[in-house]
Amino acid sequence: NFSLEQLQAIDSAHHLHPFTDHKDLRGAGARMITRAEGPFIYDLEGNQILDGMAGLWCVNIGYGREELAKAAYEQMKELPYYNSFFRCSSPTPVLLAQKIAELAPKGLSQVFYGSSGSEANDTALRLVRQFWALEGKPEKNRIISRRSAYHGSTIAGTSLGGMAGMHGQLHGAVPNIVHVMPPYAFEEAKPGESDDAFGLRAAKAVEDAILEAGVDNVAAFIGEPVMGAGGVKIPPATYWPEIERICRKYDVLLMLDEVITGYGRTGNWFAAETYGITPDTITTAKALTSGYQPLSALLVGDRVADTMVQKGGEFYHGYTYSGHPVACAVALANLNIIEKEGLVERVREDTGPYLNKALAEAVGDHPLVGETRSIGMMAAIEIVKDRNTRERFPGDGSAAVLIRDHAIANGLMMRATGDTMILSPPLIWTRETIDTACERIKSALDAAAKTLI
Ligand code: PLP
Repeated sequence: NFSLEQLQAIDSAHHLHPFTDHKDLRGAGARMITRAEGPFIYDLEGNQILDGMAGLWCVNIGYGREELAKAAYEQMKELPYYNSFFRCSSPTPVLLAQKIAELAPKGLSQVFYGSSGSEANDTALRLVRQFWALEGKPEKNRIISRRSAYHGSTIAGTSLGGMAGMHGQLHGAVPNIVHVMPPYAFEEAKPGESDDAFGLRAAKAVEDAILEAGVDNVAAFIGEPVMGAGGVKIPPATYWPEIERICRKYDVLLMLDEVITGYGRTGNWFAAETYGITPDTITTAKALTSGYQPLSALLVGDRVADTMVQKGGEFYHGYTYSGHPVACAVALANLNIIEKEGLVERVREDTGPYLNKALAEAVGDHPLVGETRSIGMMAAIEIVKDRNTRERFPGDGSAAVLIRDHAIANGLMMRATGDTMILSPPLIWTRETIDTACERIKSALDAAAKTLI
């Protein structure tokens, strides 16, 4: 048995972390999470922390589900691995593909597997460019995306994404990707502009980008239905239907990145349903297995799939772990739990609306809060220095980091991105869990206010 100090010393000597300032690790050391059960994670010191982020937006059914461990064990005994290259297959990925197609919006009935959301987006990018080449329009290869978007950490994912910090470190970006204004009313709407009008204006930015690039040059528009890592930016109701209309008008493919929103988070199996749109591709990962195994699924619509099948021949693309049987077995068990426990309906009809109300009541008028917003089980709190002018604190998001640290110390894991606090709890949260989380957020804000105000 290792002590916390020993593990932290080994960690900082040998382990390079994603999205972590390594100087911090050398100073304060990493928080060591050792086990988890239901909605809670536990650290090495024995602290119980309510996991307001569902890991990284993924543990939708909560921790400690025996059924998933059993599914993995049974599959490992039967067939721990086989590939799906060269006309091979195995039953579990086949049955999972059928299940996903059953849950997906109509018209998206084909599945291509990877191990991560980043891989799924890489695949989607290659696929849409290949599609247009097969259609005899290889010049249709530009992609429109949004600033603040997050589409993964591979070179393609980073290029598709619109995170300024990542672009700064991007040596060798994938060309022909342009980024437009996100539908972020809190910062981008004009004084007095209605939500609906702002949604249409944000969609118009996409149309303008298409026209600027030249209609014959644009392959696709890609977007997260609700921007996640960029700060739970929830678009006005007018945005997505207008984006769909624009894409259809100019024959630009519509690619949705549902790596966060897929499998229930917004109160429908897919956020495409929440916004009433039918995309050409949907990328999913995370909650497909509730994070118990690494697995992603790119859902491909009939138009793209038909061309690939009829004109494409071989798609020179794939991963050793495409359709990994153990990950697929875990996904089937996970989707079964989500269905059996009615978690999607629960979010839509009960806990989603309750979270929205409870958060607004608990901290909506707190002096540090400019806005609370949520959809389903995704929420954001905008941290401001002045509620009236929406002026932010100086220090590049350090106020939000301070609040986050207070929240964790109060027993709630949440995240800070820029000046925005984020929540993305497991779908198993009850009204009671939501109340507890809101109390802890309020205490964290009160504690931070003592030094900030
Ligand atoms: N797309 C979105 C919207 C995401 O939030 C993420 C991860 O957070 C990704 C893609 C990348 O997924 P992964 O980290 O599994 O590669």
